[in-house]
Amino acid sequence: MRLGSETHQLQLIAEAFQIISKEVSYQGLAKALLRQALGYSGAARGGILLSEGGELLAKADASFPRERAKFFVSHPLATELRLPADLSERVLSRQETVIRQATRKDSALINPEEPPPRNITQLCLPLVHQEWTIGVLYLESGRDEQIFTPRCVWVMSMLASQAAVSFESVRLFEALRETNMWMVKGQQIGRMGSYRWNTRTLLSRASRECYRMFDIDLEINPVPFEVFKSRVHPNDYPALEEALTKAVSTKSPFSHEYRVVHRDGTMLHVVAVGQFDLGPSGDVELEGIISDITDRKAAEQALTDTRNELARAVRLASVGELAGSIIHEINQPLTGIIMSAEACLRWLERNPVEPDEARKSAMRIIEQGRRATDVITGLRSLVRDAPLNFANIDINEAIEEVLRLSKRELERASVTLRTDFDRSLPNIEADRVQLQQVVLNLVRNAVEAMSGVEGRSRVLTASSRGTNDHVSVTITDTGQGIDPANRDRLFDALYTTKGSGLGLGLSICRKIVNVHGGRLWVEETKRHGTTFAFVLPLCKSSRMSRSKQ
Ligand code: ADP
Repeated sequence: MRLGSETHQLQLIAEAFQIISKEVSYQGLAKALLRQALGYSGAARGGILLSEGGELLAKADASFPRERAKFFVSHPLATELRLPADLSERVLSRQETVIRQATRKDSALINPEEPPPRNITQLCLPLVHQEWTIGVLYLESGRDEQIFTPRCVWVMSMLASQAAVSFESVRLFEALRETNMWMVKGQQIGRMGSYRWNTRTLLSRASRECYRMFDIDLEINPVPFEVFKSRVHPNDYPALEEALTKAVSTKSPFSHEYRVVHRDGTMLHVVAVGQFDLGPSGDVELEGIISDITDRKAAEQALTDTRNELARAVRLASVGELAGSIIHEINQPLTGIIMSAEACLRWLERNPVEPDEARKSAMRIIEQGRRATDVITGLRSLVRDAPLNFANIDINEAIEEVLRLSKRELERASVTLRTDFDRSLPNIEADRVQLQQVVLNLVRNAVEAMSGVEGRSRVLTASSRGTNDHVSVTITDTGQGIDPANRDRLFDALYTTKGSGLGLGLSICRKIVNVHGGRLWVEETKRHGTTFAFVLPLCKSSRMSRSKQ
């Protein structure tokens, strides 16, 4: 009989173990443990606390979910399971199993649905995993019921230690689920999937993201090679096959970019990387990652398109600028030629003919024709980067000529001209026509900047100065000025604020000045208007004679 009841008891314990081990959630496991403990001991009341003040499980594992930091179940239902301080100290801290007599006020069940009897017996066991107390099993009975026999306590501690192991499994299971969830999310966000491809069976196992990228139904698992192949762009398959064959034969790391076509025609660009490893089956497997690079490809294409467009714009603009400069530079001599030719005709038509005046007009025609030729030669040499035509020149005289040529333009724009030249400047070595182009450009920009100015005088000031080794030239206007935010961009090719501007003038000017070993910049403006300045080095002989003065 005794043996029979013992067998029966062992059977019950084995069943309880089985029930507990099947649970995969904290809630389910705690409830099952409590049910088994109450059932076996015959106690009417009890509870399981898995943490106290976030301490117990949280201490055992930092990743313990905070919302369960005070997880408990009880029977009958209570609002809280709170161990009296001395019990808590003995069970939780010292990991003792305690049976003791107590009164109702010492019950750990706070506000239970049914109040406990006045006198109670408490059985309290720690749930210990490795050295950590991860929770507590608490049972309570009326004082007269002698149910917590040594055998019962032994069975309870067996249940408690089995439950502690199961709680740990639940924790690991949850952590795994969470890690897996993070991985799936991470792969979704990063648009990359992982795969293992068995090189013997040609079957693949792949993550969810791979299924999305290759438009494969989730039920197909593992994925046969034919299914994978059917999604590869037919034009890209031969190269992919070749790369795979080579990688398999040499067992070297694999990396290949190709296109994937979905059943609805959507096309993706992917890159697959991988390396060879022995899989769980003992077969050689290619293990790696496939990334969806469709967006990156589109961005790269857009960048290439923009670059090509920009290059075309620069070419067109350069041609346009050249044409603009030619028109501007040639127009004045041409007008001069026509006027002189008309004058020449008039002298010849006089009665009597005035040959001397006619000759003078013809001479002016020749002079202006030469100027036009010089301009063209200068422009051509600039475009072709041809060697500059360096000569000893008087910078003041070169600037004055430009100002003379611009006289009409200044008058039309109601601009007053002021000059402030250092007449003691020595000659410099420079390409006269090109330097004149710089000055002309600065003057033209200055005039345009003053075109909208009302309420103050429009003044253009050209000045020159000299130091021991440099001459400096400034062109100042009283125009609209320059927004400090744009100061650095003025000299960039194609930067313009004018509707019909090309934005090449200043960049060409800077290039010319740099070629002369000088520097061109825009000065900080004090009130309104703008000053452009450039310096040019003196030639060696001028430098020496100036330093002697
Ligand atoms: P573009 O004349 O075709 O605009 P530039 O290279 O000559 O090209 O000049 C670039 C820009 O610099 C102009 O569009 C204008 O905004 C600014 N700029 C040049 N000179 C002046 C000036 N004297 N005053 C104010 N802004 C100027």
